[in-house]
Amino acid sequence: MPVNEIGAFPSKVNQIGDFPSRTIRAITLVGVVGPLIATVVAIVMLWQRDVVPADLALLVGMYLLTGFGITIGYHRFATHRAFKSNPVVEFVLLALGSMAVEGSVIQWVATHWKHHKHADKAGDPHSPLEGLFHAHIGWMFRSEKGIPGRDAKHLLKDRVAILASRTFWLWVVIGFAFPYLVDGWRGVLWGGLVRVCLTHHLTWSVNSICHQFGRRTFDTPDRSRNQWVVGLFGLGEGWHNNHHAFPESAFHGLRWYEIDLSGYVIRLLERGRMISGVRRVSRDRIMRKKAA
Ligand SMILES: [Zn+2]
Ligand SMILES: [Zn+2]
Repeated sequence: MPVNEIGAFPSKVNQIGDFPSRTIRAITLVGVVGPLIATVVAIVMLWQRDVVPADLALLVGMYLLTGFGITIGYHRFATHRAFKSNPVVEFVLLALGSMAVEGSVIQWVATHWKHHKHADKAGDPHSPLEGLFHAHIGWMFRSEKGIPGRDAKHLLKDRVAILASRTFWLWVVIGFAFPYLVDGWRGVLWGGLVRVCLTHHLTWSVNSICHQFGRRTFDTPDRSRNQWVVGLFGLGEGWHNNHHAFPESAFHGLRWYEIDLSGYVIRLLERGRMISGVRRVSRDRIMRKKAA
């Protein structure tokens, strides 16, 4: 079983083919359907006003923290090295990203790197050319994910990323234990399952919606698009055509009206000297890049 897909990271398995096994598919199914069912239950409870402000605070607070763990930690830092970080900040970002239950950072990066390498062509794990449902959810059950030894080589030398990958499940548990301590099972529902459901679907929308709907500002060799709803609620990740045009940029929103919450947090971290070497794209390069 390619255990690296579900979090643990034994270095010996990173060269094997990664078509998901039956066990992995069963675990993935629980991970996809469980939070969805819980969200329906939560909506019914909301209708019956069986919710307290602490639950909603947990939902919003944990959505932002773990979401930034994915967008800033997993994506902009671990995949694209859009800035430099000290080990403590890196570990905090990657632990928060792990709590989003999207797999260990090394596996996530390998799959995302493979997406950039083959975007909307043969080999892309989740292109909507194979259907919108495939791009959103179906790909997890039937396409080949990235292989760390091939697609995330730079992380295999990163001790912090390796430690975060090896302790992936611990962070997942903490991501549910914390809301339990705040408001018992109702806290787990809102700060755990509903929060995971939202993060999952916003992340997956970047793969599906942002390669199908929205504006193409730049003429990239893929079908990536800028979609403002995913941009706003997906913490800046919906400016996906900008991202494919300039993958190394720490900022996905390139104009003042392209709201990029992750970019704003990166600016704050830079001002607080917690990160450095933040990579920016000059106005000149943006102007020179061929418009779609
Ligand atoms: Zn893409
Ligand atoms: Zn990317």
